[in-house]
Amino acid sequence: MARYTGPVCRMCRVAQKKLMLKGNRCKSDKCPMNKKRAAPGKDPKARPGKRSDYGVQLREKQKLKRIYGMLEKQFSLFFERALRMPGVAGENLFILLERRLDNVVYRLRYATSRSQARQLVQHGHIRVNGKKITIPSYLVENDNEISIADGSKNMTVIKDSLKEFGKSGVMPWLSLDPDAMKGKFLAAPRRSDITDLGDIQEQMIIELYSK
Ligand code: SF4
Repeated sequence: MARYTGPVCRMCRVAQKKLMLKGNRCKSDKCPMNKKRAAPGKDPKARPGKRSDYGVQLREKQKLKRIYGMLEKQFSLFFERALRMPGVAGENLFILLERRLDNVVYRLRYATSRSQARQLVQHGHIRVNGKKITIPSYLVENDNEISIADGSKNMTVIKDSLKEFGKSGVMPWLSLDPDAMKGKFLAAPRRSDITDLGDIQEQMIIELYSK
């Protein structure tokens, strides 16, 4: 499946926001966003100009798309699906994004970033209800059990991630047994439950796609 392969930190500089795409590095002093830097291509001394409505809407979409590591085509398919679901499109979009298997693997602390989680899925290290699933965009259902394959439980990358981040627990819509390397997707979250994405304004994304 296609994915972005360019410089990752550049995306944060464009968004002028820490998108947390590189696991441990994002929380360390090595994160380039800790230094005040202008967006790529901008004169650092230039005054920030006023963005058009379209510019603001586009930036919100790009931020969300990049946080979840998706390309345009797949993201717009998710949006269309969110529109067809009953309820509020913006909330539905978040529910779909959170149900992605690579995201759930990341949220369960098996990986330090969504891109690392995507690799774990693609390389066959993840089981959903005991079945091998290698599709990162696979949508997890309520009460699905997401575990590490028996043959992969000794992988340093997974053990280190669980050791480092497992202590801080998981989001309220998940449960995790770190010793057994088994977790559960209890139920789809509400938008208000997703508190770690910062100030994403999904209404802007809806307006953008409604044009
Ligand atoms: Fe790079 Fe992570 Fe910092 Fe973004 S938050 S600039 S991905 S280190």
